[in-house]
Amino acid sequence: MNFISTRTKDCKKVSSAFAIKTGLANDGGLFMPESIPELNKNELNALIKMNYCDRAATVLSKFLTDYTYEELLDDAKGAYSKEKFGPHPAPLNNLSGDLYMLELWHGPTCAFKDMALQIMPRLFSRALRKCNETRTALILVATSGDTGKAALEGYRDIPGTKIKVFYPIDGVSRVQKMQMQTQLGSNVSVDGIVGNFDDAQSGVKKIFSDASIASKLNKNGVFLSSANSINWGRLVPQIVYYVSAYCDLVNAGKISLGEKINFCVPTGNFGNIFAAYIAKLMGLPIDKLICASNINNVLTEFLKTGVYDRNRAFHTTISPSMDILISSNLERLLFTCFGADRTRECMVKLSKDGRYELTTDELKFINDTFIGYYTDESDTKLTIKDIYENENRLIDTHTAVAVCAAKRFMNDSKAGRITVAVSTASPYKFSSDVFTSLSGHAPSGDLEALDELNALTKTDIPTPLDKISERKILHKRVIDKDDMERAVLDFALD
Ligand SMILES: *Cc1c(COP(=O)(O)O)cnc(C)c1O
Repeated sequence: MNFISTRTKDCKKVSSAFAIKTGLANDGGLFMPESIPELNKNELNALIKMNYCDRAATVLSKFLTDYTYEELLDDAKGAYSKEKFGPHPAPLNNLSGDLYMLELWHGPTCAFKDMALQIMPRLFSRALRKCNETRTALILVATSGDTGKAALEGYRDIPGTKIKVFYPIDGVSRVQKMQMQTQLGSNVSVDGIVGNFDDAQSGVKKIFSDASIASKLNKNGVFLSSANSINWGRLVPQIVYYVSAYCDLVNAGKISLGEKINFCVPTGNFGNIFAAYIAKLMGLPIDKLICASNINNVLTEFLKTGVYDRNRAFHTTISPSMDILISSNLERLLFTCFGADRTRECMVKLSKDGRYELTTDELKFINDTFIGYYTDESDTKLTIKDIYENENRLIDTHTAVAVCAAKRFMNDSKAGRITVAVSTASPYKFSSDVFTSLSGHAPSGDLEALDELNALTKTDIPTPLDKISERKILHKRVIDKDDMERAVLDFALD
């Protein structure tokens, strides 16, 4: 399987190892497999009887054809071990009726990013060897909170790599900030940025596209790569849990093989929901994909009107990992549906005018699968309270956005299919807002909220977050967004 860019027709094809090593195509586009491999009914039937790691190796091997099955199985077993994820890396639970929840936050940093970022550094490290790369890889990450910590934890002390993370100082929760500021590892560096997530992401993109930085680094035996969801190595492990959830529903006798289900995904950069779309294109019986947003509802509007317009106010919300105005992976959807020429056209318009518009037919094609819903802050809080009081489950602020959207969709569609809402973070990662939603008053402090939520609900604090306030702060620095370049060079050449 070769990989091509989303922006240039008939571009040079590269191997999957090269795509994972490099992150971004050299025309500024994202890497995509040149075709989507099929998962036929017999293969799906075989997957039903497998455990998560075997399912992962089977799905990954369809895309990463320059890796052996044994290598992929080995990496899956290392990534999704019981010690790191508990008995099932992606358990499925019934909420009520046809509404299910797929929990993706049982990994070491308590958010779904671990599903990709525990295995990706392993794939990356193999990619360096497969490409005969001898330079040090500097992984550069812009994060709205969860990616940063998950990438730091995944890449920490991986030989041949260094990792540098930028996060918006006022755009992440106290717990997220503590998680990053206390990060251990000999090859890690973390800076807060004065600005929002898009400032951090634009800064990182600028550094990636600056030839003079690349040449300075290269002279010192360093090259840049990305762990953001624009990297194919982030996306491909996310396909697995959609397939796995489907298999688990068949195993539990809730659906018969071939019966269609819906997924509702709390969306920011469009990576997670796009992985579900690939699963559908492979042949997994999926009907609708519900794109759930918070009041940063640029995607809801896009899916309703065909206009993508980032010229709007940016809102800081209680679901900060979805506070995004430019959803980078939407580019992959445009490419998959309409090809490289049309994608480049839209991306040029987006960077010039901050907006682009689909034709009526194009929108109709996308709406065959995708529907957008958004949830405001008050409904997010009400959903947390409702699900706790009526279903006896504690959910985080991002999951609440998805559950609220799923309920609205099910109410509107009346199709009677199973809908799986994707649960992307532990409630304890956002304990302050979860506590406030349940009790009607604020906790005594953001870090105290962990214990207060525990006392209120008698649920367990996940081990990685327990006693986090007692850990030593190692990365305090906050810099201006214009100083990101210097920070990268200083760390790389250190
Ligand atoms: C990253 C994240 C999201 C958004 O996922 P995308 O792939 O960026 O759409 C949603 N919820 C949580 C908790 C996250 O960390």
